Amino acid sequence: MLIHNIVNTFFCSCTYVLTVDDSSWLIDCGDVEPILSVIKGKNLIGVLLTHAHFDHIYGLNKLLKLFPNTLVYTNECGKETLLDVRKNMSLYHETPFVFEFPEDIRIVNDGDEIELSDGLKAKVMATPGHHPSCLTYIINDAIFTGDSYIPGTKVVTNLPKGNRKLAQESLDKIMQLAKECTVYSGHHVE
Ligand SMILES: [Zn+2]
Repeated sequence: MLIHNIVNTFFCSCTYVLTVDDSSWLIDCGDVEPILSVIKGKNLIGVLLTHAHFDHIYGLNKLLKLFPNTLVYTNECGKETLLDVRKNMSLYHETPFVFEFPEDIRIVNDGDEIELSDGLKAKVMATPGHHPSCLTYIINDAIFTGDSYIPGTKVVTNLPKGNRKLAQESLDKIMQLAKECTVYSGHHVE
């Protein structure tokens, strides 16, 4: 599996393009153009969302118009959040965002496994605290933590539905894994 990191124009959130054999997967979705130049005509099978805040999802409508068979993975709260401008906080930005393809959402929960290709799975770990939609994905020795753990920064818990206690519990779980894994987090930090 190849991992390509795109730093998005909005809030320096990160999209990761995973290349697995002849297909691609994404972790989160911001700017679409750089995604297209990385996947170069390969099939895009799915998008694994670390959570459904605006800065991690804003390219999804444009992307799914280009790749109508692509599925979007999140939990139940993530689904609700994708479909509500207030909950995903896009209301407070220039371009309110409501996800237009709810039928392409697949719900995943703690302990689930998503098959990326033959023998390669993404393990889902619920890491609530920053937001209830927060999921961390473990793929071999790579962990994609979204905003549940950004090295060198404190987890943000003062947004709607944030929870400091849960964030700390999630962070403890992540740090345990991080000892043996490479962390790919939700924002680029200088
Ligand atoms: Zn966030």
